[in-house]
Amino acid sequence: MLDGTPMTVQSVISPAAIPFAIPASRWDDSVAASLSPAELLLYRSNLLGSDLTVTNFGGGNTSAKLSETDPLTGQSVEVLWVKGSGGDIGSMKLDGFATLYQDKLLGLEQHYAGPDDDDKMVGFLPHCTFNLNGRAASIDTPLHSLLPFAHVDHVHPDAIIALAASSGGEAATKAIWGGRIGWLPWKRPGYTLGVQLRDFVRANPGVEGVMLAGHGIICWGDSAKACYEHTVALIADAANYLNGELSGKPAFGGQKVASNPDRAAIAADLMPRLRGLMTGARSKVGHYSDDAEALEFTGSVEFERLAALGTSCPDHFLRTKIAPLTLDPERLQDDAYLGEKIAAYRELYAAYYERCKRANSPAMRDANPVVVLVPGVGRMTFANDKTTARLAGEFYGNAINVMRGAEAIGDYIALDEQEAFDIEYWLLEEAKLQRMPAPKPLVGKIALVTGGAGGIGAASAARLLRDGACVMLADRDARAVQEVCNGFAKQFGKDVVRATVCDVTDEAQVQAAFADCAREFGGLDILVANAGIASSAPIEETTIELWSRNYDVLAQGYFLTARAAWPLLRRMKEQGGTSVVFIGSKNGVAAATNASAYASAKAAANHLARCLALEGAPHGIRVNTVNPDAVIRGSKIWDGDWRQERAGAHGIDPGQELEEHYRQRSMLKRDVLPDDIAEAVYFLASDMSAKSTGNMINVDAGNAQAFTR
Ligand code: NAD
Repeated sequence: MLDGTPMTVQSVISPAAIPFAIPASRWDDSVAASLSPAELLLYRSNLLGSDLTVTNFGGGNTSAKLSETDPLTGQSVEVLWVKGSGGDIGSMKLDGFATLYQDKLLGLEQHYAGPDDDDKMVGFLPHCTFNLNGRAASIDTPLHSLLPFAHVDHVHPDAIIALAASSGGEAATKAIWGGRIGWLPWKRPGYTLGVQLRDFVRANPGVEGVMLAGHGIICWGDSAKACYEHTVALIADAANYLNGELSGKPAFGGQKVASNPDRAAIAADLMPRLRGLMTGARSKVGHYSDDAEALEFTGSVEFERLAALGTSCPDHFLRTKIAPLTLDPERLQDDAYLGEKIAAYRELYAAYYERCKRANSPAMRDANPVVVLVPGVGRMTFANDKTTARLAGEFYGNAINVMRGAEAIGDYIALDEQEAFDIEYWLLEEAKLQRMPAPKPLVGKIALVTGGAGGIGAASAARLLRDGACVMLADRDARAVQEVCNGFAKQFGKDVVRATVCDVTDEAQVQAAFADCAREFGGLDILVANAGIASSAPIEETTIELWSRNYDVLAQGYFLTARAAWPLLRRMKEQGGTSVVFIGSKNGVAAATNASAYASAKAAANHLARCLALEGAPHGIRVNTVNPDAVIRGSKIWDGDWRQERAGAHGIDPGQELEEHYRQRSMLKRDVLPDDIAEAVYFLASDMSAKSTGNMINVDAGNAQAFTR
């Protein structure tokens, strides 16, 4: 439980603990020697993008003007290779570059009459495509094509944006580089900015790069290596300068709220409550961070003032929304307060939309906050999927660094509200959103699967992951659950799966597993209660110990997990409801020979599910059961004594004969596999069964004894 103990005021992190990192060249001539010109561009891009001191995720673009053979004429032509729309320069491959005829790009100016034509100019870019390359050119393309340099980099690392977003930025640019680096006032990326850049360079021959206010830097070189090393050196210059300015000064006016030692527990308690309040078209996934930036910033004297200003660089802003929601750490237990804060945020967002919208603006999008900041606790971010939530958090971390540097040399300047709106609701941005494929059915949903390291548990988790859910695997077997988690991370991505060690017979461990899930993903929508064992013994040989073991895991374990899930599930009523799926057993319905402890405990779980279906309905919680039978392949239960015991009970060989026995015993004469159970779990967990509760689905290839009605 959290208490409301007031936090003591003390310095949390010394400002010098988080200076701007100084990048260094990682260029390797021996690697570069064998690369083609296009591969050199890729090498340079990957080097830049994989170093987070150089650029943030996805941020920045690179280009080279290369000689290519025109497939139409066989003649040599100049082609602009430039990072295409979307993607990340750190991980992109050659197919991430758009390729365009440079002479056609330059010829586009005849269609340009002034700044109002920016959107129109984007429409011409596909007409300049070289070699039928399907990669769409980005809106930054004119920044590269209009500059008369062979190699151009445009990046937005924190140290550079800190200069670009400060009232003292222009003076600092002069102080650092003299006239070598120019300064252009804020202008949204597009053709006009390209023209301004080109004109600036013409008017200032010898200039080596240009700071773009509120945005980043663009610079160039005669070769891929020269361009790369120039970019890295400029960032290092900026970082060194800012570190000098920051040294000895407390960042953000010093600290007034200490980091709370219970912050992880506070986040686990708070996130599902916030998530439940963020009603809208889709449910959110959360991401929590208590990194040094988040704690230093949220605990600082200037926190409220700076947070209210919002972010600056468009890359940050598009991910984080106009401004974060800030919460009073003393009032986190007050649901009414949280409700008011979220409602007020939504109203502010709607007012911003109304103030700034244009005649042809797309309809208002989700008004919920993306970034939630709590002094002493850290930063929570919420988005439609986990990766977007994590990235939003990381971008806000970048924004914090920017504010720290910007305030060290002047006043931090956020993006002007109308400019921010015009970017957020840019028709081109809207078109990009419209082109995105519809999300998978379980995107935004969070599931916890007990016994997630086992055959049926892992198959169920995989099925949920496949359709977009985030999954917390909970199992008492630490090694096995980590292994399964690692495999899923490779298959489905690291963001969407986590593992926690939990014995479902231990109340505290069960509570902790759900807290982990809440902190890692923001809450819970689906519980798959599956952790189980099996045992076989005639009644006279059934010891108290054996009896209790079955009841502890299969009856009490299901009770403990359902009870711990309940408050998290209840929070999601307004979002369309939630689902609990119990993995029962055919033996919970049909009597079994020599397995009274196991079978009766399974029957208890089945009836528990029915009771909970009744109790859960008013809260939108559906509770259903899947009854498997004879899932031999993939199940660890069948690796152990159970196989011997069951074979003994049926008087058959425990090897091949056993599988054949169960196949022949089924009405359909078919094997039942973990994936078959997982399909039923998926059905009951998803909205496909939105109107079903209190049901059982037998997945047993047909067993008349187990017919439920
Ligand atoms: P499995 O042994 O492959 O998986 C069970 C998992 O539960 C294991 O990873 C195990 O470590 C875990 N577990 C066991 N006790 C636990 C505890 N106290 N706390 C946390 N984790 C615990 O078996 P499976 O076949 O995948 O079984 C899954 C469920 O399906 C069980 O509830 C089982 O009773 C039920 N079931 C299985 C069959 C079958 O034929 N395999 C038939 C009917 C019902």
